[in-house]
Amino acid sequence: MSNSALRFATRCARAGTQRGATSANEPVQPPIVQSAIFDLGGTADAEAIFSGARKGYAYSRFGNPTVEALARTLAELEGGAGAMVTSSGNAAVLCAITAAMQGRTGPLVTHHDIYGGSFELMRILSGVYQLKLDVVDSSQTDQWLEAISHAGAVLLETPSNPLMRLIDLHQTIEQARRAGAPVIVDNTVATPFNQRPFEFGADWIVHSTTKYLNGHGDLIGGCLIRREALSSMDRTIHKNFGGTVNASEAALVLRGLRTFALRMEAHNRTGAQLAQWLQTRPEISRVYYPGLSSHPQVELVRRQMPGGAGGLLSFELARGEPAAARFFDRLNLIIHAVSLGGPETLVTRPAKTSHRGMTPEARRHAGVSDSLIRLSAGIEDVEDLIADLEHAITGLT
Ligand code: PLP
Repeated sequence: MSNSALRFATRCARAGTQRGATSANEPVQPPIVQSAIFDLGGTADAEAIFSGARKGYAYSRFGNPTVEALARTLAELEGGAGAMVTSSGNAAVLCAITAAMQGRTGPLVTHHDIYGGSFELMRILSGVYQLKLDVVDSSQTDQWLEAISHAGAVLLETPSNPLMRLIDLHQTIEQARRAGAPVIVDNTVATPFNQRPFEFGADWIVHSTTKYLNGHGDLIGGCLIRREALSSMDRTIHKNFGGTVNASEAALVLRGLRTFALRMEAHNRTGAQLAQWLQTRPEISRVYYPGLSSHPQVELVRRQMPGGAGGLLSFELARGEPAAARFFDRLNLIIHAVSLGGPETLVTRPAKTSHRGMTPEARRHAGVSDSLIRLSAGIEDVEDLIADLEHAITGLT
């Protein structure tokens, strides 16, 4: 029996299992099928499996029961028809771009403030394979919609990080529909707890499961999910690009997903509390968080992110760059590290890490100053986090 009729938190708690699928003395948790190969049986069995006449396993890069349990769960959580699990978020973006661009002649349209790794990947594809790329400032709505009107496919991320700008999914997808262009949404930062791109008509969703979905900071992984049934070409791309995963990694993500709904409540709450607290402090000149009433797209946030505004935020120190440099040395609890979506609260300086490859001019254009600090709210007690931040910012000169 499918889990898709169940409520979100129930689906998470039962990640990897199917209602009514077990009987007496069977394990409640799905087994970890850690095997590269499967016995093909006799000649007729092998023929049936390889011709696709019968469902069966041959080789774990083509399919594995534990990995498929994870794929089924991810599709259920996003409300898609099928999913494929990848070895990283970047591998998922590569597969999704390739699948979405099949048969399309127009350019892949994307925006400047998409995740830097996706941007570099697209630059490589355009340099080596002449992928046509149109990179647009999505906050200039007219330019964005004009580019989409002749797009081959669209890759977007909302909210973008570190500045937490939203792209209007309804408006973008309507325009893409008119152009016949599939839309891929990177839902890593928002997560399916907060934002449901398929309900706006998106064609593909990609994730770095490294972040909130696994949620424990102990693996690198990804997935791509399709609103409609996966085609055999989609599966062929996935298995031949080779960025697939082993059963043990898939089982770790399934374990993380069982507490996903609970964890997201904590990330959302702590993110909002920290953003509000930072906003009251004279040492902080600006806070970027979609859940603040001062966010310029507050109405869009309400429509597009009904589950919550998430755990990611950025802020500027009033005393600028020298103060930002000292801030990191004064933290005792919060960790200076890249990535997001784990149990620990993390801070980074995008100008020195994720956006380091951009010229200072390009960073200025993108609004990423040298004193901007990005914070991923973990699930610790917020009072401990506030005490650490207070210690780090008080008296900064
Ligand atoms: N998408 C977003 C929004 C990300 O933040 C990241 C990584 O930080 C990725 C994709 C790439 O994921 P991975 O590092 O798992 O390849």
